[in-house]
Amino acid sequence: MTKKVNPKLLKEIKKYGAFDISACFNCGNCSAVCPLSKEELSFPRVMIRHAQIGDKQSILSSLEPWMCYYCGECSSTCPRDASPGEFMMSLRRYLISEYDITGISKIFYRFPYIQNIFVIFIFAIALITFLKFNGDFGSLAAKIELVFPFYITLYIISYLFIMYKKTILDRLKKFVVSLNPSNIKNMIVHGFTQKNFIACSEKDYVRWFSHLLVMSGYILTLIISNLHILEPLKKQYLLFTPLSVLIYYSSLSLIAGGSVMIFRRLFKKGQSSKFSHSTDWLFVIMLFLIGLSLFLTYTSNIVFGADSNLLEIIYKINIAIEISWILIVVPFTKWIHMFFRPFAIYLNGLKKENSQVIVEEI
Ligand code: SF4
Ligand code: SF4
Repeated sequence: MTKKVNPKLLKEIKKYGAFDISACFNCGNCSAVCPLSKEELSFPRVMIRHAQIGDKQSILSSLEPWMCYYCGECSSTCPRDASPGEFMMSLRRYLISEYDITGISKIFYRFPYIQNIFVIFIFAIALITFLKFNGDFGSLAAKIELVFPFYITLYIISYLFIMYKKTILDRLKKFVVSLNPSNIKNMIVHGFTQKNFIACSEKDYVRWFSHLLVMSGYILTLIISNLHILEPLKKQYLLFTPLSVLIYYSSLSLIAGGSVMIFRRLFKKGQSSKFSHSTDWLFVIMLFLIGLSLFLTYTSNIVFGADSNLLEIIYKINIAIEISWILIVVPFTKWIHMFFRPFAIYLNGLKKENSQVIVEEI
């Protein structure tokens, strides 16, 4: 079967980031220095080539963009300053918008100010409504938090299914899964430890550690809010309890990890922070605010008690931030990387198991 060529593909991907691969002369230096590029998953040069010749089908069926952790070594050694690392990042944004069946990611990535406006608007509407609400806010917050997991799960399932369809189903023409324990273990280990962040030859432990903090802090925050473990308006908590450890770990991890990420982007520390898309800023700032508002909610509960007016206002701010985050940021931007990367590792194992039946199209 002959592949369709899309002459506008490169122009299209360029809308998702700041790179200049028109300067690339395909020397292959970037793939040679990339510590994560392997024989069976070679990047970024192959991906650049697909983009240059307009081979959209190969890009959509590739897992390689998810194997790149943006260490930036390829960009710092590129003789043409083509920014291949940023190209890979842009490719991930492009793929998110292609996997998103609603088309909203495409709008947010191309016109980030629209996303910012929506976040502020939803936060303001939620907060004003909450401040005017005179009933039992604790119960209302519980109901709101109950809806979050359903909303997010629906998005995650739809994204992962489209990713599976484009990378496996469309090529194999049949539904396959892998129950291989090492494949599943690999997916879980990479998902939780993000260990490829430190696979680069120039080890950036600060970046890896800040990602680990944010990731673990965020997962715990999700558990706390989805299981509605924290009921700050119903009872007063004590400082030295297992719940305090949980809440202070999750909130302080988000504050610390988020601050490091903001600082690195602000001062362009390292290749990976050299270019910041507007959605990257929104992402790290929101993470920081979620951690801060959770910390203040819990601390005011301990200090002032469950019936304090100040606590109720802070808690309302916390829930309003969570609403705008869950509705506008989570499903449409890089948060979803958290699931794509480990799933790509699983799909790669699946591809290997079925390598004889995958017919490579030329
Ligand atoms: S190192 Fe630069 S010029 Fe060479 S293939 Fe990679 S992007 Fe192109
Ligand atoms: S940014 Fe790092 S991991 Fe990604 S392609 Fe370049 S060298 Fe490889």
